[in-house]
Amino acid sequence: GYERVLQENKDLYNTVQDLKGNIRVYCRIRPLFDAGEGSAVDFIGDDGSLVVVDPLKPHREARKIFHFNRVFGPIATQEEVFKDTQPLIRSVMDGYNVCIFAYGQTGSGKTHTMCGPSGGTSNDAGINHLALNDLFHISCSRKDLMNYVVEVQMVEVYNEQVRDLLTDDFSAAKLEIRNCTSNGESSIPDAKTYVVNSTVDVLNLMKLGEMNRVACSTAMNNQSSRSHSILTVHVRGKDSTGNTIRSCLHLVDLAGSERVDKSEVTGDRLKEAQYINRSLSCLGDVIAALAQKNSHIPYRNSKLTQILQSSLGGHAKTLMIAHISPEAVSYGETLSTLKFAQRVSTVELGAAYLNKESSEIKELKEEVERLKTALSRKE
Ligand code: ADP
Ligand code: MG
Repeated sequence: GYERVLQENKDLYNTVQDLKGNIRVYCRIRPLFDAGEGSAVDFIGDDGSLVVVDPLKPHREARKIFHFNRVFGPIATQEEVFKDTQPLIRSVMDGYNVCIFAYGQTGSGKTHTMCGPSGGTSNDAGINHLALNDLFHISCSRKDLMNYVVEVQMVEVYNEQVRDLLTDDFSAAKLEIRNCTSNGESSIPDAKTYVVNSTVDVLNLMKLGEMNRVACSTAMNNQSSRSHSILTVHVRGKDSTGNTIRSCLHLVDLAGSERVDKSEVTGDRLKEAQYINRSLSCLGDVIAALAQKNSHIPYRNSKLTQILQSSLGGHAKTLMIAHISPEAVSYGETLSTLKFAQRVSTVELGAAYLNKESSEIKELKEEVERLKTALSRKE
């Protein structure tokens, strides 16, 4: 049954195979809040290039160029972003582990991309909603071949503590992460797990999770942008011959990546900032180590990377969506977000990209020479 499913989805499967092992990085730019203000975005290329410049010094500052797998400009819709994410999400149903992150400073649009606007219309639904919708759709269309069970968990990591977002008791003790040394899988056995059968089920759980996130953060006098929220979707499938697949999808809305001026904050705020900086740089280190195929991957350095372990390494597929705010006041953060995202994406893919480009240029030059010769013969 499973073989047939793959056969029937050959095109899709090939696309998915292309993505195998790749770390993809997209960049999304949110609209300017004040249209009168200058934007840091100077140019967006179809090839994933992005040129930025300080909006306050556009004529004096050097423009900076970055390359990603794709760049979504301020008018890109939720559907467009989802469309480029869909093959990855679908591969979860074929047994791949997948991890999708929203990275960027507070206010850059991470939650908008993952969850949609708060209290927004379903037209603007985020990746979480659209992804689950798609998974149920596939499950339904394959129901004669495969029997799928979909379960979700939702936790947040705040100051290196894991909290369950799907329990009403948000004073609940911090959760433990269990690592299975034989297969490298990690799990949070005590986080509430719900079997879901429809997008409505998931939406209700997401609502509960979001409410708890806000309630927790109010109770603890901090903002939700100070924690990483992780929606985990576990998929199990079984065909009539007893073949099974098991995979997991992590949808992560990371804590704001902004650097906090250490001279200006003290106490809890400083502690939060340090935890966030450390876990985000651990994430960068893990992704870089994976891309370089190092023998040691430092998953254990943070709770975030420990939880995501099974959907970062091996044959898992990873997508980071780096978000930027185009305003002048954010320019410093924009540059550091773009540099971080570039670092994540270029370690291996960047080299291949450059080689490809230079061989194309070589071919074009040879073509020009051929045409010149042909022309001179005609004359
Ligand atoms: P973050 O989660 O990164 O802190 P939010 O997703 O909360 O940022 O976005 C900040 C504000 O900008 C919200 O009011 C959100 O609705 C709006 N916003 C973000 N991205 C977009 C977008 N692509 N189109 C329209 N509004 C957006
Ligand atoms: Mg947010």
